[in-house]
Amino acid sequence: MTKADLGIYVHFPFCVRKCDYCDFVSMPGTPDEQAYYLRVLKKEIRGFEALENLYLVRTVFLGGGTPSIMETAQLERIMEQLREQYEFAEDAEITIECNPGTLTEDKLVRYREMGVNRLSIGLQSTHNEELKVLGRIHSYEDFLESYRLARKAGFQNINVDLMSGLPGQSVEAWEDVLRTVVALNPEHVSAYSLIIEEGTPFYERYGSTKGRLLLPKEKEERDMYHMTKDILGEAGYQRYEISNYAKPGRECRHNLTYWTGGEYVGFGLGAYSYLGGRRFGNPKDKQEYWEYARDAYRRYKETPPQTEQATMEEFMFLGLRMMRGISTREFEEKFHIPFQDVYGEPVRKMLAQGFLEEDGSRLRFTDKGIDVSNRLLVEFLL
Ligand code: SF4
Repeated sequence: MTKADLGIYVHFPFCVRKCDYCDFVSMPGTPDEQAYYLRVLKKEIRGFEALENLYLVRTVFLGGGTPSIMETAQLERIMEQLREQYEFAEDAEITIECNPGTLTEDKLVRYREMGVNRLSIGLQSTHNEELKVLGRIHSYEDFLESYRLARKAGFQNINVDLMSGLPGQSVEAWEDVLRTVVALNPEHVSAYSLIIEEGTPFYERYGSTKGRLLLPKEKEERDMYHMTKDILGEAGYQRYEISNYAKPGRECRHNLTYWTGGEYVGFGLGAYSYLGGRRFGNPKDKQEYWEYARDAYRRYKETPPQTEQATMEEFMFLGLRMMRGISTREFEEKFHIPFQDVYGEPVRKMLAQGFLEEDGSRLRFTDKGIDVSNRLLVEFLL
C-alpha cells in the first residue's frame, strides 16, 4: 500500500520568559515541569502508533515556545520515538525553532546529528532598542553569534523571523532591518506585522485608541510591507506566501503542507492536526492537556470529519495566501463541482476590481488584492 505524506508538528511550550506581545501557547517552565511535559508528550505520540503503516513523514517541525531551551537529550528522545514509529522520507525536512541566546555549538552539532536540517531563528529586529520594547531575551549580537555557530555547524537552510510595525518603528528603521538581514544571506525570511493581541502586556500599552498612536500609521505599515517585497525581491528572495520569502527551492515545506491542505499531526499543548479528513486541536490549558493526551488517539477517531463546505473555504483561504494562488481545476477535481457554481460571483467581482488575476486555471491575488486580503477572504465564506 502506498503511504500518504504526513507532516508532524511537535510543540514545546517553554520559553525563558514570555515576550510582551506574545499570545502563543508558551510559558516559562521549571526543569521538573519540562520533564513532566515530555513524559506526557511521549505518551500522546505513542497513542498514534496505529498510523505507522499509513504514512510517510515528509516534514517535522519542532516548534514552540522555544524548543532550543529544552535539554538536547530530551529532543533526541522525541526524534528517536518519531523515527521508531514512522517511516521518514530520505529527504525529510526537519526544522527546529530556536531563539538567539539559547543556542550553543554543542546543541547545534547534536541537532544536526539527530537529523535536523533547517533552523528557524526568531530575531524580530536587528535593533536592540526594538528588541527591548518587544521584551525579547536577546540582543542582535546574540543573534549574530547564534547565526555564526549555526553556519559553522553546517546548517544550510536557515529562516530568520522578522516583525514590522513595532511601536515607534519608522519606515527607515525597518529598511535598515531588512538590509542588515539580507546581507547575512539566510535562505528564508518570514516577515510578519505585529498584531496587538488581547490579554498581552502589549494590549494594555497599545490596545487603546491613545496607545495606537504610538504604532506606525496604516500608510507607514503599507510602505513597510511593500518595501519588504522590494528589498527581499532584489536580493533574490521570492515571496511565496503573504509573509514568507525564500531563495529558490528553499520554501518551508512544512508550512506548504498547511497551506495546500496536506495532512499533518500536531503533538503537544495546543497543537493542531488535519488528519484523515478531521481537523482538531489539543487543549491549550496544561491540566486539560494532561488528561487529553492520555487518549488523544481515541478522541481523534471520534472527531467528526470536516464538512465539505469548510474544506472548500479552507481551499480558498489557505490557497490564496500563497502567491501562486489556487487552481480552479484542482478545486473541481477535489470537490466534483464546477468552481463557478460555488465561487463564480465573488471571483468575477474581484477580477473586475483588480484584486484577483487569472492565469490559465489559476487565480491569485494581485498586489492590490494582497493589501486588503483579510477583507477579501471573508467573501469566500460559504
Ligand atoms: S520566544 Fe516566541 S513563543 Fe516564546 S514568549 Fe517570545 S514570542 Fe512567545
